[in-house]
Amino acid sequence: MDMGIKGRKAIVCASSKGLGKGCALALAGEGVELVISARGAEALEATAEEIRKETGAKVTAIACDVTTPEGRAKLLAACPNPDILVNNAGGPPPGDFRDWSLDDWNKAINDNMLTPIELIKATVDGMISRKFGRIVNITSASVKSPIPILGMSNGARAGLTGFVAGLSRQIVKHNVTINNLLPGPFETDRVRKTAEGAAKQAGKSIDEVLDSRRQQNPAGRFGTIEEFGVACAYFCSSHSGFVTGQNLVMDGGAYNGTL
Ligand code: NAP
Repeated sequence: MDMGIKGRKAIVCASSKGLGKGCALALAGEGVELVISARGAEALEATAEEIRKETGAKVTAIACDVTTPEGRAKLLAACPNPDILVNNAGGPPPGDFRDWSLDDWNKAINDNMLTPIELIKATVDGMISRKFGRIVNITSASVKSPIPILGMSNGARAGLTGFVAGLSRQIVKHNVTINNLLPGPFETDRVRKTAEGAAKQAGKSIDEVLDSRRQQNPAGRFGTIEEFGVACAYFCSSHSGFVTGQNLVMDGGAYNGTL
């Protein structure tokens, strides 16, 4: 199926690896011109080259920290009028809320709530004036089903979700939509890293811990970044203008609920 976005321009934040990379690859496969970003320049340039080779798309790599005003300014300078914005950044650390300072909370809220809101603010009016815009926020299944040790993630991402729920309904008449993708466990570096601590504690290998987690999921596996990218491409497509303010849980069925 043709997603109808060939020639559109996209900013895909935090996309040298993992879920952001999955989104970048899928959009490039649809003929979208990309600005991709990450802090680490080497991995970012390697990903840009991989996407160019695989899809033939034009890819500009901007090494920057998207959670800073300077980083966002660099992204917007490289793509001042994006048709598509995919918001993403690293997630807050796990822990006990009794140990978190106000600074810890401010960082989580800055990175996972205010950073996407700032980028939406900088791009949405242009999208409205051009009568096309697609914004996708990568959040987490923890918005729907909170994860106890990820309290800052639960809180900051729920804040973004609430804001977007209101704004998305105000702008959809201009063919500008905002939707959220809520990943459960996907095969990415982050999931491997979070398994390291559990493996040490249990005296097991990381692969043993990951295998047991895969088996605990109703699908018997983790998701792939390619599956994630296809869902993102749908939300960014010309066909999705009647779908806004939605939260798509992608977790292999781990969330146990009728709705
Ligand atoms: P990942 O594999 O670790 O990849 C993260 C990507 O984001 C890398 O390219 C990283 O590059 C970049 N990045 C991180 N912080 C950045 C920043 N401040 N500015 C610019 N780029 C940044 O992570 P992932 O698994 O794809 O996770 C992406 C998001 O989804 C996170 O917020 C995570 O909490 C959330 N999530 C993931 C899962 C999952 O199963 N994977 C589940 C639920 C939620 P640099 O480090 O070089 O900057």
